[in-house]
Amino acid sequence: MNPEELNKKRVQYITFLKKQPKGFVYCDNEPAQTMQVKPALNKTEQLKSLNCKYVDCTACPLGTQGRTQVVFGKGSPQTSLMFVGEGPGRDEDTQGAPFVGRSGKLLTQIIEAMGLTRDDVYISNVVKCRPPENRTPLPNESSTCKNLLLLKEIDIVKPKIICTLGSTATKALLGDELKITATRGMFVEWRNVLVLPTYHPAYLLRNPAEKRTVWEDMKKIMAKLEELQSNEE
Ligand code: SF4
Repeated sequence: MNPEELNKKRVQYITFLKKQPKGFVYCDNEPAQTMQVKPALNKTEQLKSLNCKYVDCTACPLGTQGRTQVVFGKGSPQTSLMFVGEGPGRDEDTQGAPFVGRSGKLLTQIIEAMGLTRDDVYISNVVKCRPPENRTPLPNESSTCKNLLLLKEIDIVKPKIICTLGSTATKALLGDELKITATRGMFVEWRNVLVLPTYHPAYLLRNPAEKRTVWEDMKKIMAKLEELQSNEE
């Protein structure tokens, strides 16, 4: 193609792009003769595409230490409220969904007591593969998985509030120096999201007296969600 033809093509292409509706993106790995625009992916598609990319992930040691499958986040990508726990346990590893064991049942009860269902919120973990013997994820495992998946999930879902369940999730988002005992029940602004740390349901199973404390935290979340919603109206 001579320079004159090339320039003509460029002008045609720019005119073509200007006519496209908002939200369309150009797929630039196509040859010039078959230029196409593809619709921007919605949140569900973005999450699916993210998960597909990491379905066989071995980026951290947990990928090769006996996991059955990678357990991705689950729930509504349109939600304002996201829960983040530590990592999958045995039941989650078997069933391929987060929070489905005893702790998960308790989390479901908490969510339902808030007048919501699991499908109204988004539930995920810092690490997506079960640590051997359910040990706490090591800092390099948490940090690798957080950067590969959790932060991207958060960027896609864009919740208004994230409730971190337990110390691992709280430290993963807010930093190692923050202790759950110091921040529990307090909203902390992080990357334009309000993060409220509370106890992990597994801790509540061992310390049922703290269920009341967590319920007080959930009431704060409900009130804040209402406030944020009314500010939007
Ligand atoms: S825990 Fe996360 S980073 Fe590690 S192997 Fe599993 S998906 Fe990959």
